[in-house]
Amino acid sequence: MPEKITDTLQTQTYLLGVNDIKGLMADGSIHDVANEEVEMVRGLTRKEVAMRSAGLVVVDTNGNILYRTDKSHLQHFFPILSRDFAMLAYEYAKFGRPLPIISVDSHDVIGCDFRCANCLSGAGLLVTKTNVNNGFEPPLEKYLHILSEIAEYSKKRGVDSVRFEQSGDGNPDMYEHRAALIREARKRFNMPTVYVTTGSLLNEDIMTALIDYGAFIRISFPGIDKQTYERYSANTGYTFDDSIERLKTLVKMRKERGREREVLIGARIALRPEEEQLYYGFGKLIKDIGIDCVQAVKILVPAGLKYNDFKLTPTAIEQLQKLKGLSNKDFNVGLPNTLDYIYYERAIEDRSNFSKICYSSRIEPVLTGSGIFVCTKSDVMYKTKYRFGNFEGEKGELEKFYSPQNVAQVTKDVPSSCKTCPSILDNLLFEKIITLTKKSAGPLSFYEIVNG
Ligand code: SF4
Repeated sequence: MPEKITDTLQTQTYLLGVNDIKGLMADGSIHDVANEEVEMVRGLTRKEVAMRSAGLVVVDTNGNILYRTDKSHLQHFFPILSRDFAMLAYEYAKFGRPLPIISVDSHDVIGCDFRCANCLSGAGLLVTKTNVNNGFEPPLEKYLHILSEIAEYSKKRGVDSVRFEQSGDGNPDMYEHRAALIREARKRFNMPTVYVTTGSLLNEDIMTALIDYGAFIRISFPGIDKQTYERYSANTGYTFDDSIERLKTLVKMRKERGREREVLIGARIALRPEEEQLYYGFGKLIKDIGIDCVQAVKILVPAGLKYNDFKLTPTAIEQLQKLKGLSNKDFNVGLPNTLDYIYYERAIEDRSNFSKICYSSRIEPVLTGSGIFVCTKSDVMYKTKYRFGNFEGEKGELEKFYSPQNVAQVTKDVPSSCKTCPSILDNLLFEKIITLTKKSAGPLSFYEIVNG
């Protein structure tokens, strides 16, 4: 029984590989574990593994740890594990494995019922001012054609489940075929949905589809109490309390439909100047509801301002650390790497370590309308020259968009011309594994660190 598996896990740290499971001691040594423990860890669902993830290790044939990161990237990668992401880089570097698409981030709706401060898409306004503004809210069959192209492309390259993020370029709940899309993506193409929304226009049909076929429902909170929510969303009809009720409904539906071990439900919050007293209380509130995770992020510094004019106060830092203290195997808290400023620039600070190739654009592209683009950075994405192609409905068209010649042409000045990067984590990790692989003569093994 599921309860037994989780209840009997020791306070042990495990290493979960593709073929084996080991124990990791506090001194960093690796040891074998009892068969019973192996069975317990093997019985965890992908969500349970991801919730317990405490990082990644890379091990050589002699059992030496060559690389270790203690960061859980649950809320960044799920349902992909960081181990699987790293293995992809390894097989690419070691064996020349052709790169599949492992994740696609779809911006399919223009328009929003909110007017959030600092919205990256300007509620769709940015894209409407450009010449990439086509193919939004497609008929379902056209959308499914695009997914079939992506699924087929990746299957040929050894990946049979592509992460499918839907975040709109505005509010994704507005797409009339959303529920059917989520269902069919999973049933026909084994593409699990990661759904990013404020949740204000979720209806029962979409919520049921998300619970039955989705992987991750992430509700964005423009503010984290009544006042800040109202101020930052500029939405007159949907309140902080409505959003909390929405979370309760999702948790209840997930329980009723027996999907607690599979579907992750989380909240995302932005650091705001007025919220310094509120972080812990918000985390406690949603943890008590049964939400799995919260991610607090710095947002890009608003145009015309300097990020380093907005220092996090000692009170805010203390609150965020207290929020972090709520973490356990049932609640994951993600904080910015450094608690220094409220805003940030995703600047590529150290070019010597940054990859010369944008791997992210090859394995995690962005679908904007019917076009497939290198990334989500608005000043990059909304230029036709960074579009690999525009789906017209022709079979095999993605193979043409991703031909080596076209990829080389579209990405010829990235990352060299990119001042900031939304996929900095992915590109750096990919590059790190490639470097390790090239330095090591023998085979490497990859393990997710899993807390028991
Ligand atoms: S900003 Fe540049 S390097 Fe980063 S994902 Fe976009 S294209 Fe790639």
